[in-house]
Amino acid sequence: MENNKEPSGEVFIKLDELKASLDPKKVKSLNIQLFERAIRRAVALQEECDACKNFLPGAAGVIDEMLTQVKEDKVKYKEYQIFYKHLISHMQQTHKLVSEGSYLGMWISLGLAIGLSFGTMISNISLGIPIGLVMGVAIGTSMDADAKKKGRII
Ligand SMILES: [Zn+2]
Repeated sequence: MENNKEPSGEVFIKLDELKASLDPKKVKSLNIQLFERAIRRAVALQEECDACKNFLPGAAGVIDEMLTQVKEDKVKYKEYQIFYKHLISHMQQTHKLVSEGSYLGMWISLGLAIGLSFGTMISNISLGIPIGLVMGVAIGTSMDADAKKKGRII
């Protein structure tokens, strides 16, 4: 269990407060669930990674700022979005983590592109595209499943 007196515990309490005070649609469009999971990863990694350790006070600052803005009814999301981007890309690049379903999304578009050029090559685009799509879904799904098995989902 988290000790609520620890700074990291406080971040999650404030994050809960923020989620409760924002429109659920906004919580979704801001990807706050993923943000929260990434912060949990940073908490777990802080002993071995200085960047993760530094994200924690940063996150607390961003959340505090948003809570103040919610009370004043003029929320600016820019700072959060910049911080979110840094945090997620750090998790992806340094810790090789991925967000759920990201391989599928990536491979569907890759598969479509491959299918299109294959279809063009064989002069049969209507055959090439479904082949590329099926291939993309198969590869993406298996890569997502593999990432999940290895605990690499943020
Ligand atoms: Zn890190």
